[in-house]
Amino acid sequence: MSTLEGFEKAKMIAEMQQLLGSEVKDLEEGFVHYLYNTLGRNVNSDAYYQFKALSYTVRDRLMHHWKKTWHAYNEGDIKKAYYLSMEFLIGRSLTNNLLNLGVETQTEKAMYDLGLSLEEIEDAERDAGLGNGGLGRLAACFMDSCATLQLPVMGYGLRYEYGMFKQRIQEGFQIEEPDHWLGFGNYPWEIQRSEYTRVVRFGGQTRMFTDPHTSKLSSLWENTSDVIAVPFDVPIPGFKNETVNTLRLWSAAAVEDFDLTQFNAGSYFEAVSDKSAAENITMVLYPNDTSENGKELRLRQQYFLVSASLQDVVCQWHHKYNGDFTNFAQYNVFQLNDTHPSLAVAELMRILLDDYFMEWTKAWEIVSSCMAYTNHTLLPEALERWSVPLFEKLLPRPLEIIYEINHRFLKQVAMKWPGDQNKLRQMSIIDEHNHVCMAYLAIVGSFSVNGVAALHSQLLKDGLFNDFYRLWPNRFNNKTNGVTQRRWMASSNPGLRALLKSKIGEEWITDLSQLSKIEDFVHDKEFRRSWMKVKRENKKRLAQLVKKTTGVDFPEDSLFDVQVKRIHEYKRQLLNVLHVIHLYSSIKRGQVDNWTNRCVIIGGKAAPGYAMAKNIIKLVNNVADIVNNDPDVGNKLKVAFIPNYRVSAMEIICPGTDVSEQISTAGKEASGTGNMKFMMNGAVTIGTLDGANVEILEAVGEENFFLFGLKTPEVEEMRHHYNPHHFIDSDEDLRAVLGLLESGHFNQFEPGIFNDIISSIKSSNDPWMTLADFRSYIDTQKAIGLAFQDHERWNTMSIINSARSGVFSTDRTMMEYNRDIWKLTPIAHNAK
Ligand SMILES: *Cc1c(COP(=O)(O)O)cnc(C)c1O
Repeated sequence: MSTLEGFEKAKMIAEMQQLLGSEVKDLEEGFVHYLYNTLGRNVNSDAYYQFKALSYTVRDRLMHHWKKTWHAYNEGDIKKAYYLSMEFLIGRSLTNNLLNLGVETQTEKAMYDLGLSLEEIEDAERDAGLGNGGLGRLAACFMDSCATLQLPVMGYGLRYEYGMFKQRIQEGFQIEEPDHWLGFGNYPWEIQRSEYTRVVRFGGQTRMFTDPHTSKLSSLWENTSDVIAVPFDVPIPGFKNETVNTLRLWSAAAVEDFDLTQFNAGSYFEAVSDKSAAENITMVLYPNDTSENGKELRLRQQYFLVSASLQDVVCQWHHKYNGDFTNFAQYNVFQLNDTHPSLAVAELMRILLDDYFMEWTKAWEIVSSCMAYTNHTLLPEALERWSVPLFEKLLPRPLEIIYEINHRFLKQVAMKWPGDQNKLRQMSIIDEHNHVCMAYLAIVGSFSVNGVAALHSQLLKDGLFNDFYRLWPNRFNNKTNGVTQRRWMASSNPGLRALLKSKIGEEWITDLSQLSKIEDFVHDKEFRRSWMKVKRENKKRLAQLVKKTTGVDFPEDSLFDVQVKRIHEYKRQLLNVLHVIHLYSSIKRGQVDNWTNRCVIIGGKAAPGYAMAKNIIKLVNNVADIVNNDPDVGNKLKVAFIPNYRVSAMEIICPGTDVSEQISTAGKEASGTGNMKFMMNGAVTIGTLDGANVEILEAVGEENFFLFGLKTPEVEEMRHHYNPHHFIDSDEDLRAVLGLLESGHFNQFEPGIFNDIISSIKSSNDPWMTLADFRSYIDTQKAIGLAFQDHERWNTMSIINSARSGVFSTDRTMMEYNRDIWKLTPIAHNAK
């Protein structure tokens, strides 16, 4: 048989095998095959191996559609978008992939027939924690929605060996432990694709030279230290639509296994350590949420992601179109998730100029019409700036290009504001302290700049980027964040899913606006009872998690009051603690008329170098310890700090929550997405007028939202004359709370440990102005307690919150990105 015939035959066999069945017996067979033959284990092996075997079985059933999707995107002239992000906070995938494939029932039966529990198997999956918090989780929700909408979008990220650290609590303190999430061997959802390996350059020098062929003056980047980027592809299935998109994660490796010249010269040690230096690049995720520290390795990571991803896209284009870049910008768009990948602006210029010998103006025309930048924060400490000497050492050629971009940009500024030296200074990409301002680079190089909630986008235009807005008003737009209801309702809240199915069917799974239909049943007695029952079951599940992880008993009829998110001063977990202390102090003083029993959950990780945030965790734990062990308190108040908050924990937490705490200082939270997950699952929000809370309030109305606190302009106005003592002197409750704190009641054998916290909230320089909102917060919490006693009223609020959450689906968010920025055509394909 000829090679060609053999190839055709192999292809036929493969295609036949790829159409794998999804009947119970097919799934059983696949599962047992992997367990016995690939993993070498028995059915009664550890749940982790059962999880792996089942994941391979499921992955097989994605493979055919994955290939079909890939070909559909790459065959014709199809515009594609690339989502560049340093973080993808995926969490677990088995449950989600079963849902999107539509094989949950069969799989559950298959496992049951083998004497196994699907739930236990799902529980054995480790979270892929390749992100810190909201920004990384947003990227993961976007990927899910794009696949469901059949948009040709590819994610590009890094395959960190160690994801977000594991948080353990020891004597009330946060202890960080490494998260080697890959376990032994590989992640079952990934496919290594060494054939798409790229080379990324660092260091070296640049030298001007005249190209002998074109006699053009060019820059040569030489003597570089090179690192190899190896892609690992993760399938992203859409919901029952035969689309499987790709998330490509890069892993760093040394160029050659060892540098043989060094090796032979006797430098064995140096040769080996160079290898590990290269591999270091994707070793660990930086655990800082919204704060940067200018570390060299971080800049290396950013360039590594950007360079590998852009080379990937450009090389494929070059191949397909024989080096003709005329239509490149028409068919490719890059969405930059915050400034982390904003080097893409310089890197695409470098590739076009140096590798494909394009003219500057032509290259700039392409670059500036295919980059789009999303801003995620107004906090000054989060705005990335890299020192020029560091940049020069690591990335001399991209730096040259940034200088040239800046030079040409400043000429434009000078045209707009003739003679205004201040403007030039303020807007320069290279700032007065000789730092490269990555946000300015991103804005200058992009055709679209968006914020992530209406308020945030407005504040960008009015404040942080006002000069740029005046120069290019049309570049600025808003795209309010969302979350995917597939993960955050359909898979994490099966009780609610069943109830919804019986009333409005399942269209809401791909069209969340359908949820509004449940408002028709808001007076339906039977529906109301079922709604309450679902919430009750979910509270049970949450109480079990609390018991298992903290040992604290949560009575299910109490109000479950939850604040889970990264620990940060601007998010004001401290305000929550002050309220808890106030409740405790009221109980101790016998002020318990009309009392509502309450269980308070706080959870979240602190950046390992953020001393104040870590101390807040300690305070929560110490307060919990006193409250939970005081016989006077009993069931009136329970407090628990849930350790190791992560995606899989949130899947249990949000369905079981009554009150969602969204209490940041107004103007500081860009959007928030935790708020949306809670709302969808029927929690009522207590919140400031900040981020997407503004839009949540607008959707549900004031009677279904507990609004409190200063508004953004009030915060900014008060900042000039903020005097916490004014609030302390005029508020007896606040004095009682501070009195308990200052007396050392919560740290009797640990003298002084909370002094920094106390002085920060009593300082007139407290940027978060916690005490200014104390009274309003306490009063609003009181109103919540009373509202909860009226079960019927509370139930109505719960139903309405969920019913009106349709707009917060990432399906809506993605449709808006596509309508206004990407302009892609959905690709429906019948993969047969
Ligand atoms: C949704 C989510 C976040 C974001 O929460 P915010 O309250 O918006 O800060 C962070 N971490 C995890 C694990 C999440 O699921």
